[in-house]
Amino acid sequence: MDAVDPTQPYDPENIFARILRGELPCEKVYEDEFALAFNDIGPQAPVHVLVIPKGEYVSWDDFCLKAPDAEIAGFIRAVGKVARDLGLVEPGYRLLNNVGPDGGQIVPHMHVHLCGGKPLGRMISG
Ligand code: 5GP
Repeated sequence: MDAVDPTQPYDPENIFARILRGELPCEKVYEDEFALAFNDIGPQAPVHVLVIPKGEYVSWDDFCLKAPDAEIAGFIRAVGKVARDLGLVEPGYRLLNNVGPDGGQIVPHMHVHLCGGKPLGRMISG
C-alpha cells in the first residue's frame, strides 16, 4: 500500500471507516461517543491497540486542524482511558501516530497506536 498523503481528501471507503460503520469486523477494546479502539491486525507488541476518532479525519494534522475542541478532548481522554483500563499506566506504554510518507502512515483515517505489555526500547529503530 502507498503511504498516505496527509492533505488528501477523506476517503469514506478506507478500512477504518468501514470498521466504524460495522462493514468490517474488529476486535473491539473500547467505544464511546468520540473514539473506537480495537486490536491491530498485525501487532508489534503484546498489546497493540489502535484508537481512532469517530469523525472523518485523514491524519493527525487534519484532526488538529479541523476537529472541534470537544472532539479532540474526548478523543484524548478515550486514549488515556483505554491505556488505564488495560492496566498499562504502571508498567508504561507508548503512543505513536504516523503522518504522511516519512511517518509511514498507510491507513488514511487518523489513528493512534497504543503499544505496551513489554519494555519497548528507545524510540525509533530501523
Ligand atoms: P499506519 O502505518 O497507517 O500508522 O498503521 C496502520 C495499522 O493498521 C497497521 O499497524 C496495520 O497492522 C493496521 N491494520 C491495517 N488493516 C487493518 C484491519 O483491517 N484491521 C485491523 N484491526 N488493523 C489493521
